[in-house]
Amino acid sequence: KTPEPKARRDGAAEVAGQRISSPDREVFPSSGCTKLDLARHYDRAGERLTAIAGHRPLSLLRAPKGMSGQTFFQKHASDGFPDAVEEVEIEEKNGGTGTYIYATRPEGFVACAQMGTIEFHIWGSRTDRIDRPDRLIFDLDPDEGLGWADTRSAAFDLRDRLEDLGLSAGAMVTGGKGVHVWVPLRRAHGWDTVKGFSKTLAHVMAEAEPDRFVATMSKARRKGRIFIDYLRNERGQTAVSPYSVRARQGGPVAVPVEWAELKRLDGANLFTMGAVKERLEEPCPYLTRADDLQQITRGTLSKLEDW
Ligand code: ATP
Ligand code: MN
Ligand code: MN
Repeated sequence: KTPEPKARRDGAAEVAGQRISSPDREVFPSSGCTKLDLARHYDRAGERLTAIAGHRPLSLLRAPKGMSGQTFFQKHASDGFPDAVEEVEIEEKNGGTGTYIYATRPEGFVACAQMGTIEFHIWGSRTDRIDRPDRLIFDLDPDEGLGWADTRSAAFDLRDRLEDLGLSAGAMVTGGKGVHVWVPLRRAHGWDTVKGFSKTLAHVMAEAEPDRFVATMSKARRKGRIFIDYLRNERGQTAVSPYSVRARQGGPVAVPVEWAELKRLDGANLFTMGAVKERLEEPCPYLTRADDLQQITRGTLSKLEDW
């Protein structure tokens, strides 16, 4: 689908109409993965990224000189971004507004790659109704040394709990160590309800199996356990976007998977950009359930209280 990049006189390349400077700059040291490779990945994944991450405020993990240089996490707009990247004013927690960036088309994501973006992180709501999350997410964070099998079975247990509550969930391997379990939501409730629900469920699971789970962020209490990070479900918080490359050795990609597939997967960081290229020819496990909007009801909440 992606045509060979056009050569430009200034040594830059062009992807999806966006100028890519220093296309040959190696992003991950001694990996051969260049800035151009990254831009082309975001071009190939662009339609899906637009469907999933489009119209959501973005936080970017940038490494303008590659991973051997400085990296930083950017929540607000800054100068120099191409026109394909949109800006929106959003009310901040402590009053005033902040300027956030978002994309509405594939070129926007490619333009961010031009700005040295490696990772895209997304809000749980979209710019048109910023106070109505449409995504519930549990970020399963295993303690150092905890095996993949434990993390994976935690994802299945969480899925089953959600199902008992009448909520149908999907899974994504993060490209790091963990799994994100997510639920597409009708935009019926505000952040308080969604965060409150996720917090209670995380605590229910931690109280039922204190040897396996914790629901508090404290690293000390995590020892040998999985932190059920429900704190992504808060206004202004983000989680890594599906199809984002990760700023970790080898450039693994965050990839939505079917549950049947997760059962057979051997790790959370095994999808390379090359592997994802092939997956883009198949239906997306995220998008196939994205329209099946779920709702936290009184029934959901009262059943949760009974646990
Ligand atoms: P893993 O599976 O390895 O845990 P992850 O993407 O879930 O990968 P976390 O460390 O659990 O990584 O991070 C959870 C989320 O917190 C990130 O996806 C991101 O949106 C947010 N986050 C990460 N780093 C920062 C940062 N420096 N500043 C603000 N938010 C961050
Ligand atoms: Mn995590
Ligand atoms: Mn986390």
